[in-house]
Amino acid sequence: MAKVKKIVKTIKVDADKCNGCRSCEIICSAFHATPKYSSNNPARSRIQVIKDPYKDIWMPVFAGEYTPAECMGRDKYIIDGKEYDECTFCRATCPSRDLFKEPDSGLPLKCDMCEDDPPQEKPLCVQWCLNDVLIYEEREEEVEEGEEVKDLENGLNTLIDKYGMDQIADTLTRISQKE
Ligand code: SF4
Ligand code: SF4
Repeated sequence: MAKVKKIVKTIKVDADKCNGCRSCEIICSAFHATPKYSSNNPARSRIQVIKDPYKDIWMPVFAGEYTPAECMGRDKYIIDGKEYDECTFCRATCPSRDLFKEPDSGLPLKCDMCEDDPPQEKPLCVQWCLNDVLIYEEREEEVEEGEEVKDLENGLNTLIDKYGMDQIADTLTRISQKE
């Protein structure tokens, strides 16, 4: 398969600096609202701050890939004497929890690095985090063509899991005939 150049975008998380203000969640949900900035609802954000104030845990986590099945086992991490809940660091949209799901439809949410229209110089959560927790970086890499699974494909996979391929195909045919 042909190799193509790709810009890999990363956000480094300096979690010790996070105070749980949730500005990142608010701006992410507002930017992805329809129409843009018409509403904000942190439940729709593609970054979630996993929190446990009694243990002084504030851990920003970005929404990653959709998976139709939960893990067979779970991990627990203890870092600097703090024990983190199972799944704290997991980015998946998975059946075992409500995180990273559009609250009304249940469709998976995935961080798109704010590559939406209008293009942003830096992801908005990075711009809105006043504590410098989120540090944006870019690098160039060679990847195989077509390697990335796009948001549309993720959304369709979820609908196929929920309703079955036949029903989705029938619905698409019906919609296309109306246009
Ligand atoms: S980079 Fe953009 S899409 Fe991803 S979590 Fe931050 S604000 Fe949301
Ligand atoms: S904006 Fe920064 S400090 Fe506030 S919750 Fe998000 S990552 Fe933490």
